[in-house]
Amino acid sequence: MNIHSHKIQGFLGVIGDPVQHSLSPLIHNYWLQRAEIRAYYNAFHVPATHLKMLINSFKYMNCIGFNVTIPHKQTVIPLLDRVDPIALAVGAVNTVVNRDGRLHGYNTDVEGFIIPLRPYMDIIMSGTAFIIGAGGAARAVMYALKRAGISNIAVMNRDEQRAVQLVCDADVQAATYPFTSRLPDVEKISLLVNTTSLGMVGQPALDLDLTGLSPTAIVYDLIYNPWVSGLLHQADIQGCRTINGLPMLVYQAQLAFQHWFSSTPEVSEHLFSILQGDLLCGL
Ligand code: NAP
Repeated sequence: MNIHSHKIQGFLGVIGDPVQHSLSPLIHNYWLQRAEIRAYYNAFHVPATHLKMLINSFKYMNCIGFNVTIPHKQTVIPLLDRVDPIALAVGAVNTVVNRDGRLHGYNTDVEGFIIPLRPYMDIIMSGTAFIIGAGGAARAVMYALKRAGISNIAVMNRDEQRAVQLVCDADVQAATYPFTSRLPDVEKISLLVNTTSLGMVGQPALDLDLTGLSPTAIVYDLIYNPWVSGLLHQADIQGCRTINGLPMLVYQAQLAFQHWFSSTPEVSEHLFSILQGDLLCGL
C-alpha cells in the first residue's frame, strides 16, 4: 500500500444495532495496521433514536469515515450531504466518507456481492437467479445482478408486497412469490441467494426444501455466521456450488477502505483464515 500514513489520523467505525458481533473492526484494523495508518476502527452501538445526533457529531470530530449496517442503511440517507448515484438507485448506504465536515455516502455491498460470482456468470445466465428476501441486502443484490446483465430474476419474500416494490424500484421484469418452504415452480434456478437473516446465529432457521434444485446451481448465502448455514449444508448435500457471506463482507470492506484512503488493501488468504478462526472460536 502506498499511503502517506504519517499524515492520516482519526477514527473509523461501523454504526448499527445490533453491532457487537460485526467482523468489520477485525478486517479494517488488520489493514490499518499493515498500512501503518494511525487510525482505529470501532463498532458503535447506535439505536435509531440516536442516529441523527451521532451523525452530526461525527461530522465535526476527527472521523475519517464509517460503515453503516442494520437498521440504518436507508434512514442514514437524508442525513448525508451527498449520496453516490449507485447508493441512491439501491436506496441504501453502507459506507460514508467525511470530507472536511461534509458526509458522502456510497454503497459497496453491490460490488462486494458480485465479485465472488464473477467466475460463474455463464452458469448464472443459463437460468433464473432466485432471490430470497426483499430487504436492504436484497436491493443491493438486485441492483448488482441487473448491472451484470442478468435479467431472468425471481424474488420470494414473506411480505410479498415488499418483493413487488423491490422489483418495481429496480425496473426489472421479475416474478414474485410469497414465502414458502418449497421452491416455487421457477424455470431452472441457476443461482439461489438468501438475503434474509434466517439461518443466522440467534435467528430462526431458513426452512426451505431444495429438492429439485439442479446440482449445477450456485447457492449463495449472505450469512457467514455460522460458517456453513443450514441452507449451504443442504445445498452441499445436493451437490451444488456454495458461497457464504464472508467474501462479500471482505470485498465490500476493501471498497470502503478505498473510499477512505484512495488505496486498495490486500484481500489475502491470511485475512480469511483470521476471520474464519474468529467465527469458529465463537461456536
Ligand atoms: P432487512 O432489510 O431487515 O431485511 C430482512 C429480510 O429478511 C426481509 O426480506 C425479511 O422479510 C426477511 N425476514 C426476516 N425475518 C424473517 C422471518 N422470520 N421469516 C421470513 N423472512 C424473514 O435486513 P438486510 O439489511 O437486508 O440484511 C439481511 C441479511 O443479510 C442479514 O443477515 C445481514 O447480516 C446479511 N448481510 C450480509 C452482508 C455481507 O457482507 N455478507 C451484507 C449485507 C447484509 P420481510 O420483508 O417479510 O420482513
